[in-house]
Parts: sequence; structure tokens; C-alpha cells
Amino acid sequence: MIIKPKVRGFICINAHPQGCAANVKTQIDFTKAQGPVSGGPKNVLVLGCSTGYGLASRITAAFGSNAKTLGVCFEKPPTETKTASAGYYNTAAFHAEAEAAGLYAHTINGDAFSTACKEQVIAQLQKDIGKVDLVVYSLAAPRRTDPVTGEVYSSVLKPIGAPYTAKNLNTDSLKVSDVTVEAASEEEIAATVKVMGGEDWELWIKALRDADLLAEGCQTVAYTYLGDKLTWPIYGHATIGKAKEDLDRAAKAISASLATIKGDAHVSVLKALVSQASAAIPVMPLYLSILIKVMKEDGSNEGPIEQLQRLFTECLYTDAPRLDDMNRFRVDEKELDRGVQERVEAIWPQVTEENLFELTDFNGYKSDFLSLFGFGVEGVDYDAETSPLVAHNF
Ligand code: NAD
Repeated sequence: MIIKPKVRGFICINAHPQGCAANVKTQIDFTKAQGPVSGGPKNVLVLGCSTGYGLASRITAAFGSNAKTLGVCFEKPPTETKTASAGYYNTAAFHAEAEAAGLYAHTINGDAFSTACKEQVIAQLQKDIGKVDLVVYSLAAPRRTDPVTGEVYSSVLKPIGAPYTAKNLNTDSLKVSDVTVEAASEEEIAATVKVMGGEDWELWIKALRDADLLAEGCQTVAYTYLGDKLTWPIYGHATIGKAKEDLDRAAKAISASLATIKGDAHVSVLKALVSQASAAIPVMPLYLSILIKVMKEDGSNEGPIEQLQRLFTECLYTDAPRLDDMNRFRVDEKELDRGVQERVEAIWPQVTEENLFELTDFNGYKSDFLSLFGFGVEGVDYDAETSPLVAHNF
């Protein structure tokens, strides 16, 4: 079939296998070019390994430290007539590259929130790898089934306390207009914490600890975004921010539980990226379109692989990690730079439909978005007949 992007609203419902593979290769090449990470990890478990920050974590561990990686993701395989999800193709490509480089890689495609998946991971570790020295928690999910009660919780992206009205860019119609998002109910806040908070991270570490699969000095990280004034009402100080606060609580509890093996847990603050999730958050597409422009002008724009390289070298595997007063690792300082934020804030009120392409880098936003699904990638022939099936399944 000829595979062209099928974008519906802010969702792209298909993906291109060769485009995804080319993206993975570009990230691997970047990591290799940085050279080995001194003191890097050896055996790594990545929860949410197939796209975004989790994929970049896996690549950085494998190709920057020669680590064995076990990944967990939740991705749709292809059929004869339908493409797989991008994360499936990314993972297939990662496996092909890892195999060629002689690196151990195994991926479990299942629901990381379930007890069955935890048991499967434990069995796989016992069989192939043994103890892990790094556990990356990079899940981003809209819902979670509680493994004990079976109840399904859905997360929401809403402000807390009062409705919030803000300028928004509809990435489909390119209309710029005010949107109002209603305030979350107490129940919605609690459900969002249940999905995106620290409970499941704690369950994973407990399961691995009980199975004696955490090495002495094991580290674990979970990812968060803090942002600044423009995004606080819908992110930092909103339902998702509450869930992320719960990660801080969990990090402390996990660190305490790992004291006897000299282990440590850190929430790690990363920069805003164009992602399927951020495309769905009001305010974010416009914020990112402006941010990309400002950061590109400064030469400080980073993608997931650059962020992860710095997380490894400046936080995880260094004697002087970049920590904040909450004991969180920080690599978001270029985005939060005062000068950058002031310029974004100055552009924000001026943007209209007429000057969108002049005042913002909406083209950059769009190409980052399509690239998530393997489209618009240099060197890929999008007019060529392409099978949605891939050689490396997992
Ligand atoms: P993403 O959507 O690209 O990746 C999510 C991963 O989780 C995928 O591998 C997916 O397969 C997996 N996943 C989802 N549900 C699952 C389930 N039930 N079982 C197993 N795997 C499942 O997300 P991302 O943007 O890379 O975000 C990862 C983390 O980083 C999140 O905690 C997010 O809040 C945080 N973060 C994101 C940004 C951003 O701008 N994207 C910024 C800072 C921090």
C-alpha cells in the first residue's frame, strides 16, 4: 500500500514503517556520536519504551552504554491491510538495530499496569538478564485498570478550582481562538492521580525488589514536566500536575525502600515536546510552536534523545547531578531560561491566524508531529508501495 498520514483532529491514526525506522536510526546515530557514557547502566528495564522519552531512554542506555534492555509498551501490531502504531514500528526498528549491534533486547507488548505484565517481566529478567541497575518509568496513558479492584480510572486534562480560558490553536483548522476548559471535579483529580501518579511506579519497584531483581545501587527515574506561567493553569497546577506531585511522594517512598541496597529514585524534569499527548492538551500546540521558534533561534532546541543524553551524563551518571530543592533531576533549564520564557510570553498575545507562520514555528511543530508517526522523514520514499508488515516482530 501507499502510506500517507491519516490525521483526524489532533490524532494521526497510522504510521510509516520506514519513516519510524529512520527516526530510530537518527536517534541511535546521535547517541553513538556522543561516545560512551562513563559509568552508564548495564541492565535496564524501560516501562513505556516505544515512543517519546521512553524510547530515547532505551536508545541512550543501549547504544550509549551497551546495556541490555527489557522494554514494556502497549502498541498495535500491523495487519496485511492496516499499519501498526508508530511505537510498534519504532520497537521493531530498535530490535533490528540492537541485533545488528549484538545488544540484548527484549520487549513485552502488554498492559504495564497489570499484575500479569509485572510477572512476565520478572520471569523474563530471571531467564535472561538477572538484576537491573536502572528502571525507567516513562508511561503516558489515558487510563489504568486497578490491578486489585479491576476498576478503570481515566485521566483528564483540566484545571483545578475554576474554569480556565486561554488562547488555543486548533492544529487542524489553524483557527486561533479562546477555549474554556471546565474545572475538574474531585473525582476526576483523584482518577488522574491514580493513572499518572506514582502508585504503579511503586508497585513495579516493589515487585522487582521482592523478586530480588534490583542490583546494589539501582536507580529508578520517572518523568515529569513542570513548565512555566503559560502552561501552569492547564498542566503544572492542573490535574496532571497533581498526578505528577504524587510522583514526588512516590520517589521518596521508593528511595526509602531501596536504602538497604543503596538504591535511589528520582523524578526527572524534562522539557516540553511535541507528542501525541501534548497535541491533545489545550494551550500546548501554540506554546510549543512559539517555544520551538524561540529555542531554535537560540540554538538551544532539544528533542528527546538530546534530553536523555543530558539526563544520563548530567544527572544519572555523574558525581555532581543537577538536582533541585525537591531532589528532582533537572534537564529542563533551557526551556525555563528566563529569556526564553519572556520571549515566548511576549509573542503569545500577538499571535493571530494571519501571522501564525510568521510569529511562531508552526511548520516546525507540524513536522515534529508528523515525524512522530514516521511521516516527512528525509530519505523515505512516501510514494513507494510499502508493506505495513515488518520483519522484526516482538
Ligand atoms: P509517549 O506517549 O510518547 O510514550 C508513552 C509510552 O507508554 C509508550 O511506549 C506506550 O506504548 C507506553 N504505554 C502507554 N500505556 C501503556 C500501558 N498501559 N502499558 C504499557 N505501556 C504503555 O509519552 P512521552 O511524551 O514520552 O511521555 C513519557 C513520560 O514523560 C510521561 O510521564 C510524561 O508525562 C513525561 N513527560 C513528557 C513530556 C512531553 O512533552 N512529551 C515532557 C516532560 C515529561
